[in-house]
Amino acid sequence: MIRNQAIETAAYEIMCRAAIEIPEDYKTGIKAMLQSETNELSRFVLAAMVENWEAAEADRRAMCADTGLPRYYVKVGNEARLEGGFVALEGALRRATARATREVPLRPNRVHPLSRKDNNNNVGILAPEIEYSFEPDADWVDLTTVHKGGLFGTDYRMLFPADGIDGIKRFFLDVMVQFGRRGLACQPAIVGIGLGGSKDAAMTLGKQAACLRVVGERHPDPDVARLEEELKELGNNIGMGPMGFVGRSMVVDCHVEVAYTHTGGMPMSVHSFCLSSRRAVARVHGDGRIEYRTDPRWFTPYMRREGLDYEPSAERTRLEAGQAQGPGRG
Ligand code: SF4
Repeated sequence: MIRNQAIETAAYEIMCRAAIEIPEDYKTGIKAMLQSETNELSRFVLAAMVENWEAAEADRRAMCADTGLPRYYVKVGNEARLEGGFVALEGALRRATARATREVPLRPNRVHPLSRKDNNNNVGILAPEIEYSFEPDADWVDLTTVHKGGLFGTDYRMLFPADGIDGIKRFFLDVMVQFGRRGLACQPAIVGIGLGGSKDAAMTLGKQAACLRVVGERHPDPDVARLEEELKELGNNIGMGPMGFVGRSMVVDCHVEVAYTHTGGMPMSVHSFCLSSRRAVARVHGDGRIEYRTDPRWFTPYMRREGLDYEPSAERTRLEAGQAQGPGRG
């Protein structure tokens, strides 16, 4: 049985870690960009970012004054048993959010959309957001918190099948130019693309692709992986670098996630997880152990399953067949 107090303890701790400590994969990606960036001003900006993160960690203070909108992603093992069930779990997540807002502190960004009422704790109607997924043959709960900033770093377009890969690239470039030119998200960003599903699913998937995969990770489908590489390369060749300065360091990585969609359309969303790419994860076990990490491991083979029933060996075969076949487009 997973105790409710363990959930609350873990949820509070990851809120603190996410606000203060940038994940290693993102830091490593930025340091690599610092090596390859040729524009002097952009190099200066990248170096200042690294210094800022180090100062935040040393002082145990949030690395950006805007601590974004804290949210949770909860992956529940199919064999997990929760004390008090999901209602108690959600209560623990809300209490942890309020405590972290007070003690880290986080900026109390959440307000009612009309009255602008602020409870001063980042808790309110449907706040923090809590999204769920499930995992077979597991008895733990993975809690991931993401403090996503960048009010405007998101866009959506309904493409059509005939738009193809070129249409995807065109929309991606339109968005990246606008984000950079108008200062809609602080770059370099992890850019997530949601491709397919229904309109709302495309939006959800794109945000998850940005926030719940680590820099350097490629999609197991070789066609999707190749698209990720191409979009990353494109994003770094539009002439803009960190914070919209001239340069070639805009996209630290690009992650694409796909979902089966309507045969007549190809919905696409683009999300920027800004230079404050804040995420932290805790695995809570039934015996009280809590393990902390920064890789959400959200997109498991089960999440990306394609058939009627989940057969781990069938999924492996499907992906291996795809890899043997190699990318199928010119
Ligand atoms: S976009 Fe990110 S880095 Fe920029 S102000 Fe917002 S939270 Fe901070």
